[in-house]
Amino acid sequence: MRYLQYRAYGRSMTNSREAGPNRQYDVLIAGGGPAGLGAAVTLGRSLRTVLVVDAGEQRNRPAEAAHNVLGREGTAPTDLLAAGRAEAAGYGAEIFEGTVLSAERISGGFTLSLSSGETVGACRVLLATGAVDELPAIEGLAAGWGRRVLHCPYCHGWEVRGRRIGVVATSPMAEHQALLFRQLSEHVTVFDHESVLGAQARERLTGMDVPIVDGRVDRVLTDGDRVRSVRVAGAAHEVDAVAVATRVHARGELFQTLGGRVSDHPFGTYIETDATGRTAVDGVWAAGNARDPMAMVGAAAASGVAAGAAINADLVDEAVRRAVGAEPRVEKCRVQE
Ligand SMILES: Cc1cc2nc3c(=O)[nH]c(=O)nc-3n(C[C@H](O)[C@H](O)[C@H](O)COP(=O)(O)OP(=O)(O)OC[C@H]3O[C@@H](n4cnc5c(N)ncnc54)[C@H](O)[C@@H]3O)c2cc1C
Repeated sequence: MRYLQYRAYGRSMTNSREAGPNRQYDVLIAGGGPAGLGAAVTLGRSLRTVLVVDAGEQRNRPAEAAHNVLGREGTAPTDLLAAGRAEAAGYGAEIFEGTVLSAERISGGFTLSLSSGETVGACRVLLATGAVDELPAIEGLAAGWGRRVLHCPYCHGWEVRGRRIGVVATSPMAEHQALLFRQLSEHVTVFDHESVLGAQARERLTGMDVPIVDGRVDRVLTDGDRVRSVRVAGAAHEVDAVAVATRVHARGELFQTLGGRVSDHPFGTYIETDATGRTAVDGVWAAGNARDPMAMVGAAAASGVAAGAAINADLVDEAVRRAVGAEPRVEKCRVQE
């Protein structure tokens, strides 16, 4: 497993040892996107020992830039993560590239198996594992995904303002999506791929000068980063960008190894938590897109910070209960050496 070394802020990285079997951490964070790194900074600043394991499949990876990120507007996702990693490591968090394959509960904590073959122990686990977008099965859509095949008017709408935008309708939400893109361009066309637009939606769209093309989309023609056309029943409609809603599925495999279950929402799945990110599985939190499919970068990072703070408070509370004898003074959550 590749260990990423960074310079610490203002104090020595006392916990920057090489990872090996049976290492102990206060918190293991699965996932090093905005949510996981946000939590790692908060926990590191609370002098918690933290291991971040990241498989490197951040959701916005295909995009050139991340927008609506206050203070870092328009930064490339990779640059944003590099900065976040350096900040987290600066407070002592250890960051590894790899995957947490499974987790098992032990007395007071967890043992976790990593893709490197190592096993580590942690008192708490934060699932910042993000989500996966499931695109409709239309030829050409995946090739342009995150470049000129878009889902979010706030993420990349400004970049296609005034251009010809084709909205592929696969659910009634397409009306809403088309109207948001219509705010950015007078040249929006809806392709009613799944015949999902009712009479009212059609009236509202045509009232806003949004034409509707009926019939299934055969193909989206892309050329490098560009989108050329949407083909319906053999006829090509020229566009510069395509907008489409995806189904968003929480990466919940690790949660399942802990006995948790992902829940359904109207357009995918998510890990249910309370406001702090605490899940129904004792000692396990979730943050970012894993718990909220709508969270953009800022909201995902903020939910990581909130979960980090809640985990730290939970560990403080546990230490107090031990100190006053309310809980046995066992050595905290150690895996078997
Ligand atoms: C195409 C596209 C463009 C976007 N553009 C923007 C934008 O411009 N602005 C904006 O604010 N938002 C944007 N978003 C949304 C943004 O991607 C998310 O808000 C953000 O990535 C959520 O952060 P996260 O940390 O929850 O998850 P992610 O960033 O997806 O990070 C999760 C990480 O966890 C890792 N992981 C998963 N399972 C494991 C495991 N078992 N072990 C180890 N690691 C694991 C993954 O590989 C991944 O690296 C965009 C989304 C898409 C799809």
